[in-house]
Amino acid sequence: MNKPKISIVAGNGLSISFGHFSGLAHHWNSQEPLSWPIDCPSHRHNFLNSLPRLKALHDKYIEHPDFDVFAKALDNATCTKHDIDPFITPLEARHFLTIAFSNYSNKQIELLETCKEWPWYKWIELHKGNIVSAFSLNYDLLLESIFDGVALQYFSLQVNHHGHGIPLVKPHGSVDFEIHPSSISYKPNYPLTNFVDLNDTPIIRLEANKLIYPRSQPLCIIPNESNKYSGYQWVAPANRLFNEEVSKCTHCIFIGISYFECDRPELDSILDRIPISAQIIVANPNPPQEFMERLKGRPVMIWSSYNGPLDSKGNLFTLKDIKTGNLLRNCFCRSGLSYQYCCGAKLL
Ligand SMILES: [Zn+2]
Repeated sequence: MNKPKISIVAGNGLSISFGHFSGLAHHWNSQEPLSWPIDCPSHRHNFLNSLPRLKALHDKYIEHPDFDVFAKALDNATCTKHDIDPFITPLEARHFLTIAFSNYSNKQIELLETCKEWPWYKWIELHKGNIVSAFSLNYDLLLESIFDGVALQYFSLQVNHHGHGIPLVKPHGSVDFEIHPSSISYKPNYPLTNFVDLNDTPIIRLEANKLIYPRSQPLCIIPNESNKYSGYQWVAPANRLFNEEVSKCTHCIFIGISYFECDRPELDSILDRIPISAQIIVANPNPPQEFMERLKGRPVMIWSSYNGPLDSKGNLFTLKDIKTGNLLRNCFCRSGLSYQYCCGAKLL
């Protein structure tokens, strides 16, 4: 009864934090996936050479940030202007992101083995018995790999998965999701000759060591794209399971969430379900101003260290009494925050 119940909402900031801690960010800038050295799973050349429409767009806008190129891939008028198909170009972008982030994920998984001192890893390990639900906007498998490492079970409604543990919602897709083989029968290859996209089918979970192969249908929402999967059979029910937990949580922690316009409907619907007494934690060195506005009137803590959930002395922030495992005492000033992070902190 008296134990914390924590929901996690993770964004790109979690992967950025790991990139800095592990050194991965030196070679793999998560803002520039189009320049990553990604081999085509069908041929031994740069993957972009197998995706001619996306490559043409990239070449035309080579000076622009990668995320602008993805935004242009989604823009019907831009595709038409450059004489590339406005349906196939976003599909090529989905294939690119899926295979590129599969490679990136493999690097993360490899490095995580030697990075168990990463503060987020330690924090999740410390609170694993208190985490009741998770929601991730990332395609990569970092959160899952931490959960695997600390033996916290989770499921995302894949038909071949065990279905035990906490609900983990990945509404924008994931590199380990693939449509069920019985949903469609063809042999995918690059360059694409079949154009399969946006079918609402059951999904399966791929093993982490079997991610690099041509996908039947990539499951990946392009940056800046509104979520076309929100009503899908592996998203809507997962969201319901997540929301059931979030409506009973004592803490909801938003890790590295940017609150981009396209993600707001999903994030706002989570915020609407968090109990008014629950403490909200914004773990972000640069909390988005509009997100903070949205949280006004609630008990909110900001964890702004670049290194993860650490206080100014470098200690992990804990959301429970380490001796008893119970909730921390609320502050007498009625802020709704725990005393040690409210008036107690001001005494130090
Ligand atoms: Zn206080």
